[in-house]
Amino acid sequence: MCGIVGIRDAGGVSFSLYYALFALQHRGQESAGISTFDGAQLYKHKGQGLVAEVFDPAILRGLEGDVGIGHVRYPTTGANKPENAQPFNFLFRDHIISIAHNGNLVNACELRDEYEARGQIFCTTTDTELIAKVITDEMSTSGCIEDAVHRCMRILRGSYSVILMIDGTLYGFRDPLGIKPMCIGKTSQGIILASESVAVDALGGTLLRDLKPGELVCIDEGGMRAMQIAVSDCRAHCIFEYIYFARADSILDGALVYDVRRNIGAKLHEEAPVNADSICPVPDSGTAYAIGYSKTSRIPFVESLMKNRYMGRTFIMPSQIEREKAVRMKLNPIRDHLTGKSVVLVDDSIVRGTTSRRIIGIIRDAGAKEVHVRIGSPAITAPCYLGVDIPTRQELIASDKSEEEVRGRITANSLHHISLEALVESIGIERKHLCTGCLTGCYPVSITGEQSQPPAIDFLDGTYQTKLELFE
Ligand code: AMP
Repeated sequence: MCGIVGIRDAGGVSFSLYYALFALQHRGQESAGISTFDGAQLYKHKGQGLVAEVFDPAILRGLEGDVGIGHVRYPTTGANKPENAQPFNFLFRDHIISIAHNGNLVNACELRDEYEARGQIFCTTTDTELIAKVITDEMSTSGCIEDAVHRCMRILRGSYSVILMIDGTLYGFRDPLGIKPMCIGKTSQGIILASESVAVDALGGTLLRDLKPGELVCIDEGGMRAMQIAVSDCRAHCIFEYIYFARADSILDGALVYDVRRNIGAKLHEEAPVNADSICPVPDSGTAYAIGYSKTSRIPFVESLMKNRYMGRTFIMPSQIEREKAVRMKLNPIRDHLTGKSVVLVDDSIVRGTTSRRIIGIIRDAGAKEVHVRIGSPAITAPCYLGVDIPTRQELIASDKSEEEVRGRITANSLHHISLEALVESIGIERKHLCTGCLTGCYPVSITGEQSQPPAIDFLDGTYQTKLELFE
């Protein structure tokens, strides 16, 4: 998970980076950070908490320069410690380097062991520091960033979208399978790289395109140069970004997430129709799905659970009673919409099953007669090793239970998960170009002890075709 952004803008970047990170806040709430460069000096600020808690106008005014990068962190690897907040900033020979990363490496331990065997030291437990080491290692021999990214793509196994700032030049690259998203946008005076297009929208900019898997882009005063470093016949875009993680108003690799979710809702009705009085979303993650289900079934869309928008972060409550109370604080039922009614409850996914069970309890307590659950993803049966916080098989309710058993556990009258075929069709990207590891247990990169089908990757050795893209 995590959100990253890089901006070059003649009018200064700190406030733009702040707005972009604000738009990406859903990708990580643990820490936030910004590094900027004014042609001579690096300015930086980062801290634990939400973007609005970490920054204020005085701090942003102190972050000078026309180029900078930012990060919001959701910890998938590396503990919840202040030193793991990104961007990381390094001095290397005469260079000032900042780096921000979204993704997860599956060979991080092996690589770290190799570096440590050669006497290298690490300050954090993150993959990001390792990526920085690989880059500076190669820069110290060839001196060339293209070669350094080439080396990254050869030796890093896993998902990585990376934004780097080296002496005020901005670089962005995406792993050869394009697992995690990254797009390029244009603002009135500048260029932005970001995890999702909503960050471009937040600056009033225009989405230009997605970074291609295996591509490196370099942005400086001359515009943007793009180089293809590695090519694969198959991509492996994370399917869970469409299901849950990305914002509904983002366009990821050509697909508007809202439309994907609405299409899934329509197909959920085709696959599992039900006679009911109303379609109720679990806010906000189930809303677009529920609208699709309602439109196709012609059963009215009736919001019957209201979310308290001020409960930003999930509370980590010490006891079960407290946790139940927290769900009640977060979601309040509208009794008049539920009493005596048969309701179709629509949500994006069931992970551990605790949320669904609690929500169904709330709806029944409010007087609902029947609760039919429709879920916008197939059953999640396997962990994610590539950057989404999907836990171990033991914690996943569907890993060893049939749909009927899960239905019983969550106390629904009926339960249906969308089929993988209908999900893929709704996204509009061929199945061979999607990572479905959490749904199928088969991954696009090799992972010890797991089944995998890694596609072949061609590395374009030393013959990087550079294409200059100038934006008027
Ligand atoms: P549960 O089944 O109790 O684990 O909760 C599942 C719900 O949490 C889903 O309906 C999503 O809205 C949300 N969710 C799904 N995946 C994640 C995740 N990786 N991190 C946080 N929330 C998630």
